[in-house]
Amino acid sequence: MKLRALALFILVSLACDEPIAAESSRHFDPLGKPPSEHTIRGQQAIRATLPFDDDRDFAEAKRGFIAAPEERQIRNADGEVVWDIGAFDFLLGEEDFDSIHPSLRRQALLNMNYGLYQLSSRIYQVRGFDLANLTLVKGDTGWIVFDVLTAKETAAAAMALVEKHLGKLPVKAVIYSHSHADHFAGVRGVVSEEDVRSGAVQILAPEGFLHHAVAENIFAGNAMNRRLFLQYGTLLPRHPMGHVDQAIGKAVAAGTAGLIRPTREIDVNMEEITFDGVRMVFHLTPGTEAPAEMNTWFPDLKAFWAAENITGTIHNIYTLRGALVRDAHEWSRQINVALREFGQEAELMFASHSWPRWGNARIQEVMRAQRDLYAYLDNQSLHLANQGVTINQIHDVYDPPASLQAQWAARSYHGSNEHNSRAVVNRYLGYWDANPTTLIPLPPRESAPLYVEMMGGSQKILERGRKLYDQGRYRLAQEILDKLVQAEPGNRDARLLLADTWEQLGYQQESPSVRNSFLAGAYELRNGIPEGRSTRTIGPDFISAMTTGMFFDFMAIRLDTERAGSDAFTINLVTPDVDERHVIELSNGVLTNIEGYQESAADLTLTLDRSDLDRIFLGQVKLAELLEQGAAKAEGNVEVIGRLMGYQVDFDPRFEVVPGAGNPRAVSPRPNPFEAG
Ligand SMILES: [Zn+2]
Repeated sequence: MKLRALALFILVSLACDEPIAAESSRHFDPLGKPPSEHTIRGQQAIRATLPFDDDRDFAEAKRGFIAAPEERQIRNADGEVVWDIGAFDFLLGEEDFDSIHPSLRRQALLNMNYGLYQLSSRIYQVRGFDLANLTLVKGDTGWIVFDVLTAKETAAAAMALVEKHLGKLPVKAVIYSHSHADHFAGVRGVVSEEDVRSGAVQILAPEGFLHHAVAENIFAGNAMNRRLFLQYGTLLPRHPMGHVDQAIGKAVAAGTAGLIRPTREIDVNMEEITFDGVRMVFHLTPGTEAPAEMNTWFPDLKAFWAAENITGTIHNIYTLRGALVRDAHEWSRQINVALREFGQEAELMFASHSWPRWGNARIQEVMRAQRDLYAYLDNQSLHLANQGVTINQIHDVYDPPASLQAQWAARSYHGSNEHNSRAVVNRYLGYWDANPTTLIPLPPRESAPLYVEMMGGSQKILERGRKLYDQGRYRLAQEILDKLVQAEPGNRDARLLLADTWEQLGYQQESPSVRNSFLAGAYELRNGIPEGRSTRTIGPDFISAMTTGMFFDFMAIRLDTERAGSDAFTINLVTPDVDERHVIELSNGVLTNIEGYQESAADLTLTLDRSDLDRIFLGQVKLAELLEQGAAKAEGNVEVIGRLMGYQVDFDPRFEVVPGAGNPRAVSPRPNPFEAG
């Protein structure tokens, strides 16, 4: 039984491969186009409306700087580059870049923080070493580390910088603020498993952390990974006409991800703990930016750690890679709780991304801006929906109040106003716009040929598409060019013109998530899916953290129903080391599992330790070998295991998203008896 592919589906690391040296005036792609006169005019108009006079963020981003390493790359043990802040150095000058939305251009510069910073007497941060920050609070005898980056290598480099400038102190505790990998997966660069096991290091996390850390990205993992190519522009060159920023940091490091289980999950809201002389109050905020998340208040330091609930951007209510839609109302409410509980006294607010804020008035200003924008997202989207505005219209109607638009802390970099307002409607009303035509719409590939025919063929569409492109009417141009590319994926002129159109739309976006999606789509239309390392397999830490039920749930998703046909069997699984029993059953082309039961007439009863099951999943040992050695025991028909494995599908991580780029999908529409003949 091998399930090694499973590990591939957990999202963590994204690589930039060999970054192309920036030469700002020339496009990195021979087929690429610079910003058009329409795009340039729009950028200039927007530039004139933005509150550039308010430059407090820049002072805050620099405040407390201690030192930065000379080296602007971080490498793994094999010498491969896993992080390269230097690839973004083209942003450091004064140039405006008409290929970058002026507000994003500013954010992209703010995120160029690189080095070690002192925030207050006991609090330090390493910024610019990964997507997130590594934060240290000095206890009486050692460090309490808040969030440990995505990769062992970047976290270790951050700790080395700390040691070089602040001396060697032991790490006494690690706090995972929430269940996203950019906050915990670098833990092995900060502490060893032995130190955690021996009790020398405590690891604290919010309630539900382990479950969500492992579960969130597995079941839809392959699709999410593919979509990461778009939202995170993982393999787009770092360039003014390519990848410039990721809103909450520059990008995600491409190193080794791991996980050490928390020694304790905090399950009492506002619990106060004194650890190594540091008094901390943990504010649980489930259902905000992550399903398991917590803020921390340091009453003696008048310092508020906002986890990822308050950063330098309005975040995603819907994240384009995929994930359950978040709750903007609850997010706003929890910021309000923090404002009441800690915001009245705080003199320092710092977080797992972006830069800190000092002074109570400033902190309250930022907290209120973010509280109000998340609340407005929820209220106004529903206000409009209740007047008949649908999910397919709201992004063109929704507009934050001018007073919020004039505050940098309420600008939408990570989440755009467009996809966040649609997300709120989706959360409450779902994806259907209540138009019966869209209830069972034809897939784009099925309907597009009729459009092309009715529009008078490809030449007419190309001519009109080019005219619209030349007029700068890019959304209209994409409307008809997309139909042509869907109908004729091999039509090179159509592909290139649609790519040009998406590229201009990409340049015009304030949100890097939306920008990257357009630019990566354009890249794929022109050149196919980029080659290069994009994700890294996650090892044994993640496999052993999964519940046995999760393994079999995922096998059920991977099951090819057609191949399974009418096959049916029942397996009793007994795992003595963890004292668990499961029934795994195949019937009706469906695999189910349930914990805590056994079937009296099972085809097979398989007894093996869960730790051996992990080794099988990791491909380190075969079930047959364990049976031979007597480490596993099978009663009944052991053949059913082979049959079950034979029905498993390995998902293709390079499936086609943009027509004609990627491997064709292995699925086709089912026959419709009403349209037969
Ligand atoms: Zn994060």
